[in-house]
Amino acid sequence: MKLYSTQNHDLKVDFATAVFNSMPLDKGLYMPVHIPDLDQEFINNLDKFTLSQIAYKVASLLLRDAIPLEDLQHIIDDAINFEAPLVPLQEGGDTYVLELFHGPSLAFKDFGARFMSRIMAYFLKDNEKMLDVLVATSGDTGGAVALGFLGVPNTRVTILYPKGKVSEIQELQLCTNGQNIHAIEVDGTFDDCQSLVKQAFADEELNKKLRLTSANSINISRLIPQTFYYFNAFAQLKRQGKENVVFSVPSGNFGNIAAGLLAYKMGLPVKQFIAATNINDTVPRFLETGVYETKSSIQTYANAMDVGAPSNWVRIMDLFGNDQEAIKDIVKSYSFTDEDTLQAIKDIYEKFSYVACPHTAIAWLALQTYSTDAKVESKEAKVFLSTAHACKFPDIFPEEIKAKIEIPAQVNSLFSKEKKATAMDTSFESFKEYLNGY
Ligand SMILES: *Cc1c(COP(=O)(O)O)cnc(C)c1O
Repeated sequence: MKLYSTQNHDLKVDFATAVFNSMPLDKGLYMPVHIPDLDQEFINNLDKFTLSQIAYKVASLLLRDAIPLEDLQHIIDDAINFEAPLVPLQEGGDTYVLELFHGPSLAFKDFGARFMSRIMAYFLKDNEKMLDVLVATSGDTGGAVALGFLGVPNTRVTILYPKGKVSEIQELQLCTNGQNIHAIEVDGTFDDCQSLVKQAFADEELNKKLRLTSANSINISRLIPQTFYYFNAFAQLKRQGKENVVFSVPSGNFGNIAAGLLAYKMGLPVKQFIAATNINDTVPRFLETGVYETKSSIQTYANAMDVGAPSNWVRIMDLFGNDQEAIKDIVKSYSFTDEDTLQAIKDIYEKFSYVACPHTAIAWLALQTYSTDAKVESKEAKVFLSTAHACKFPDIFPEEIKAKIEIPAQVNSLFSKEKKATAMDTSFESFKEYLNGY
């Protein structure tokens, strides 16, 4: 497999280089040179395959010779060991929620983080220096990365999170792992955490001593496994005799929807994608006005989508040869306020007895708006992606709905574990001293 930089298509690297670098030096993003076309036979028979079979087929076509097939099979079995069920919102209805939160950290980021951790471990040679993964998190990324790398040999993860700004369950997911996972509670904001990580990557002395790598959402090995569940959703729809599909994706850094569009480019028949955002609306504004203008992020209830400069957008532009009109045909985009989000959470609960997390609720709202705008035919299957379990954001729900949230077993067991985190100020000297102590 070869990948190029979105900034320079002549700059090509192999898969392992793209995985460990995360980003080319020219600040573009890596994209596969060759996007395979899935054969029609496979698409027509998708309903006969399991998630893991689909994952294997898609990954082997994308990665080609990068990993021997037997090893790839093993990586997939190990990484994708939970389901992504498509749940009808209403008996006999045409709206479905694609639940992507059945992995260990209860968020869709488990797909990317688990696959990436195993790919990195695979490419590490036995006698090489331990891999040090540094990650700043505002909540969901840290948990997925921590649980993804937990116990993975020859790796160590250092997670920085802003004190008092992540939910209780998110904090427990970061701080109760032990083993090769270290949590740092920074007395500052998410931006401070991110700045510390960036400074560490730029520090010559540290880079001599440690083999540093990042684990953020721009890594190509996080994007690839996110294509799997789009194919698998289609397979589940096919089993119900439905094919004409619309996907609504709650979007922040636009990695999730970029993976959906990559699946589409590989031949998955999708009628429409909807990019649903909170008031951090850089993309919906762009699709409306043609002007791409990033902004500082604004805090909302759907905080995993508080992104003013969505890093994966360039990948989508690249997939469509920078043809704005082509993108506008396949991607519609809508943004919603916190008031809209809260109302949607209540509406979904009252109409369908379903508890949706704020990100998920925004995807449902966008689907409603699209259906009204486009006068969707009833034959269509409308799918909104649920990116996290509601229990991760308890403070947002009205008491009555909060009481209905079922806490999954893997979360209940967290409450009895000891929380361990190193408290730190926002100065780089403190962080460097900590890393030097490894
Ligand atoms: C990360 C995240 C998102 C945003 O996904 P992107 O790939 O960044 O667009 C949405 N919802 C939840 C719960 C998340 O954790």
